[in-house]
Amino acid sequence: MRAVVLDGRGSTAVRELPDPEPGPGEIVIAPEAVGICGTDLHLAQGDYPTGRFPVVPGHEFAGTVASVGAGAGRFAVGDRVCVDPNISCGTCARCVAGAPNLCPRLVPVGVAGDGACAELVKVPAKVVHRLPDGVDFATGALIEPLACVLHAASRIGPVEGRRVLVYGAGSIGLLAVAYARARGARSIGVVEPSAVRRGAAVEFGADTVHAPGERPGNHDIDLVIEASGHPSAVSDALDRLADRGTLLQMGVVSPESAIQLFPYDLFDRELTLVGSQSLATSFPEAVDAVAELPRLAPGMVTHTFGLQEYAAALEAAASDTARKVHIHPQR
Ligand SMILES: [Zn+2]
Ligand SMILES: [Zn+2]
Repeated sequence: MRAVVLDGRGSTAVRELPDPEPGPGEIVIAPEAVGICGTDLHLAQGDYPTGRFPVVPGHEFAGTVASVGAGAGRFAVGDRVCVDPNISCGTCARCVAGAPNLCPRLVPVGVAGDGACAELVKVPAKVVHRLPDGVDFATGALIEPLACVLHAASRIGPVEGRRVLVYGAGSIGLLAVAYARARGARSIGVVEPSAVRRGAAVEFGADTVHAPGERPGNHDIDLVIEASGHPSAVSDALDRLADRGTLLQMGVVSPESAIQLFPYDLFDRELTLVGSQSLATSFPEAVDAVAELPRLAPGMVTHTFGLQEYAAALEAAASDTARKVHIHPQR
């Protein structure tokens, strides 16, 4: 099979690798659509802490079952499927407590194990889910990022009636805007440096959009969803929170960066700071949710490439015209 192989030093070569054979309880999938996200941009450069090299990237995907190992019989060749890329141990204290995203033995497909930017990818059957009828592969590949938004939402109270401000209008920020709209937010603002992405945020349901530093008003937001990963955005966000406001940190901020925090603000305004990483147990909920959003992909996927064009796909993903970039490995 052909596969993109990252060496963690910027190389994105397409190589011939042996076809994966399914062992007991495993399934081999022919991926049809694979999303690229910020994780992949970092991974290609080797600056992603859990990356193991060489690795085949691709953790947001949907495709068809190509072969089924012994004991993985609830799937058959040709089934349309999507995959929760997080393979957790299932037995540690965090897994048992419903936080498999924090499992110390977590192996994310396409990050620490070979992923879907290949003609074939092998995964345990336990992370494979049936793609609902009527949901196309491109939309199926959006289930993973949608699950991250649903997990984040599960970490806070209801969005209904709250004044929401989202930092960053990349794919996660846009999905967060759509989610807040669907769940009855009173108002939705977006702070985003790119004018192109601000336009996208309006399309996804934002009421107001602002360049960084240009949003008027302080202490008038009930919920900030930080999806930019910029420490300056986190600082700015804290000033926006009204009494009993919540800051939901979804953006991946550099582990080295720090901000100034005044604990008095937490006390005085009863602020809540909440972190959310990956998708925990939200994948099945996202499969159900996407069945009600069968037309999510056309507004979201702006670019598609073949395997050979992986370098160009990464470049497109880093540009501000990209919402979501997809690889079509069978092309
Ligand atoms: Zn991702
Ligand atoms: Zn575990």
